Amino acid sequence: MDMLSLVSGTGVALKKVASTHGGEYAGPCPGCGGNDRFRCWPNDKDGRGAFWCRQCDKGGDDIQFMVEFMGYTYRQAFEAAGRSMPDNYTPAVCRPARERRKKAFEPRVFESPADLWRERALKFVEKAHVALLENKAELSYLAHRGLDLQAVKGFRLGWFEGENGKGCMFRSRESWGLETVLKRDGRKKVLWIPRGIVIPTFKKGEIYRIRVRRPSYDLKTDKDSRYFIVPGSGMEAAGHNPGHRAFVVVEADLDEMLVCRRAGSLVGTVALGSSTGKPGSDVFPVLKKAVRVLVSLDWDKAGRKAWEWWKKEFPNARFWPVPEGMGKDPGDAFENGLDIRDWVTAGLPPALTMEINHGYQKPEGMSHMQELQMLLSKYPVTIEATLDKGRIHFDPGFRHRGIRQRIHDLFYKDEDIYWYLKMYHPDDVISGDNLLVKDPA
Ligand SMILES: [Zn+2]
Repeated sequence: MDMLSLVSGTGVALKKVASTHGGEYAGPCPGCGGNDRFRCWPNDKDGRGAFWCRQCDKGGDDIQFMVEFMGYTYRQAFEAAGRSMPDNYTPAVCRPARERRKKAFEPRVFESPADLWRERALKFVEKAHVALLENKAELSYLAHRGLDLQAVKGFRLGWFEGENGKGCMFRSRESWGLETVLKRDGRKKVLWIPRGIVIPTFKKGEIYRIRVRRPSYDLKTDKDSRYFIVPGSGMEAAGHNPGHRAFVVVEADLDEMLVCRRAGSLVGTVALGSSTGKPGSDVFPVLKKAVRVLVSLDWDKAGRKAWEWWKKEFPNARFWPVPEGMGKDPGDAFENGLDIRDWVTAGLPPALTMEINHGYQKPEGMSHMQELQMLLSKYPVTIEATLDKGRIHFDPGFRHRGIRQRIHDLFYKDEDIYWYLKMYHPDDVISGDNLLVKDPA
């Protein structure tokens, strides 16, 4: 396929603007939009074509185009171009040197919590989780925000009631591995944790942060804010499914979990904690590499202002608040009837959502789960599915494209299967033998 058809396949219309290098075309960029910042020379590079966007600074040949804007891997791009991929392939990235970016944003490196803190925090989270499962009122509140029982269990959400007749607890800071802090009167400061919904964040399988969403009846003065972060928590923005190629960025943890629960097979999710939160050194490069970043900040002044930073820093970003009239954030919108998965899908490039069929015949009368089990039993394939990872491992000799694609679709495009295997299934490596035998409850 030549470069002009590739470009028009992404829905972008180009105009011929010059005859140099065998013809130059200009138009909106398939990645970052605009008017005519995108340039392309279809006859350049021995007919493979060349492109460059002066806004997002992406550039290269036809292969690079498919990788940057159509969601292909290099291997898939070569396959689509009908050429074989050379060993030790170096991407043909081209961009005029004179237009290099100015000084780059330096993501902050955050510290991880202390070991003793982790130990205490994990116990606290587990206890709160058991308490939440007994608490009908809080479960019902969460369900209204799109976090059903499966989500509550998968994310280890909890409820902390307080102790000794108080709506909070006190501990010495040292008992949680925190340094001693003296108050003005010379006495030791203590660790205070208020009651509320306990929202844990895990990083690489380890507890990283605890946020508590406090009930309205405890918010009495201006100093009482809705969310409380347990001192000692790690402070980098975090989320789920870092292996995906598209992301949704939101403000609140519960919204992040909602999007993860409803569309986690399609996109990775990140919670910033507030509209001004910025990704740190772990998350920043992941978002930079993404094909698309949907920035869903709240529908308010602060959210729109923060978007300016994202627009400058991430040419792959789109401003993607929930539809107008649906409330200010994904949780509101869910309550107002928004289909979260449809809303996310509408913001993604077609390559990530379209159905491809390489001549595979779907069996009749089988559920997706049964079909997946049949395929996993029959072919040399396993799925690695944990909280942090979701990856299909094909035996390298297994080349049937139709079946590979179908297994890919069953895992990544069926929300229930994806959720079940990643968050629920007790085994990390799934094959035809253990897919169905374990009871999820
Ligand atoms: Zn661009």
